[in-house]
Amino acid sequence: MLSVEEALRLVQQHAQPLAPKRVALDDAADLVLAEPVTTTVDSPPYDKTLMDGYAVVSSDRAEVRELLEEIGAGSVPRRAVTPGTATRLMTGAPLPAGADAVIAFEQTEPIDDRTVRFLQLNPAPGQHVLAVGAAVRIGQRVFEPGIVLRPIEIGILAEIGHALVNVWPRPKVAVLPTGNELVAANESPAAGQIRNSNGPMLAAAIARAGGEALELDVARDDRSKLPRLIGAGLAADMLLLCGGVSAGKFDLVPDALAELGVVEVFHKIALRPGKPLWFGVKKFAERQVLVFGLPGNPVSTLVCYELFARPAIAALAGRGFASSPHISATLSHDFKYKGGRTSYLPATIGRPHSSQSGVKESGDMRLTVKILPWHGSADLVALARANGLVRLGSEPEQLTAGTLVRVICL
Ligand code: AMP
Ligand code: MG
Repeated sequence: MLSVEEALRLVQQHAQPLAPKRVALDDAADLVLAEPVTTTVDSPPYDKTLMDGYAVVSSDRAEVRELLEEIGAGSVPRRAVTPGTATRLMTGAPLPAGADAVIAFEQTEPIDDRTVRFLQLNPAPGQHVLAVGAAVRIGQRVFEPGIVLRPIEIGILAEIGHALVNVWPRPKVAVLPTGNELVAANESPAAGQIRNSNGPMLAAAIARAGGEALELDVARDDRSKLPRLIGAGLAADMLLLCGGVSAGKFDLVPDALAELGVVEVFHKIALRPGKPLWFGVKKFAERQVLVFGLPGNPVSTLVCYELFARPAIAALAGRGFASSPHISATLSHDFKYKGGRTSYLPATIGRPHSSQSGVKESGDMRLTVKILPWHGSADLVALARANGLVRLGSEPEQLTAGTLVRVICL
């Protein structure tokens, strides 16, 4: 059976960034920039005052000076400042011609409407002035492609008038739960039915990963109806089916996908939970859709999503195929591991343990981890107590407390 690493490599190979798109700044937050940005303006566009005060000639030593005019932000001075004169400026107003410094309002005393006394007589040239182009100059490369647009970058793009920006769009990810037994969360299950927990769980996970989730109606295990709903899901950039991919009589998903021309890349991998995972690609003339058939058991669904679908969403969004980071932690208890397949076991990562005498010198700062007792892959509630998944290999092992293990954070 295909190993987790081989399966990851195959998914990574197919998870290419979407075509970049030009969007308004209001829609660009948290997306990845797909173009270099060069400013076509200076910022600030003029010398401006950073304080309420008086624009002066810095070398002027006159104690009393004539007030020429008062200028607020948004207005333009008309008169040039010369020795013996000053112009009152509100914060943000442009400096008048001739002036090269601002003396703060607090450092002055008004004499009358036309004259002001200065208490500070030796300002440094440029005092309280933000010079034209101090932040960025015309022609300067401001951002490189590949950065995530945080609020600060959005602000800078607005500052330089870059109102439309080329980004990798948020991948649209359709979710299609399958199963005759499923009812919606707001419905009461009849005998033999359960609520569809995977649909809302995946939609939430997709949104968190920066995708746009489209939850489709539950598909019944019906050979004649399944292709229509899958077809609707293929309008997205990625389709996450769940359930119907194991070897049961009603596991119709692989055949329905084949019927629609979705080409299988792999089916079944050496992973616990998550062995039935199906992955394939549907190619259209101008685009492709990555299709995952996730196993139906909620914990299997989530493990497969975390390991394979989440990095793929990141890759489509231009962030690169980043597998869940593994950290090292010491096991806080003995554990008998039966091996067989690579396993991801729900676990609680705790603080570094310190002995009675305080933290030991010899690298005792490691995180500890406790594998949670759980009732198999339908036990989503056990997973809720987990903040990590301990990864164990295929060999059986008798692990003792203190063993270093690899863990992914949830
Ligand atoms: P399947 O892979 O379709 O055989 O489903 C495996 C198990 O997962 C069955 O017990 C299903 O009832 C359960 N299951 C499948 N889909 C969902 C879902 N959307 N929400 C909750 N449980 C599900
Ligand atoms: Mg099923």
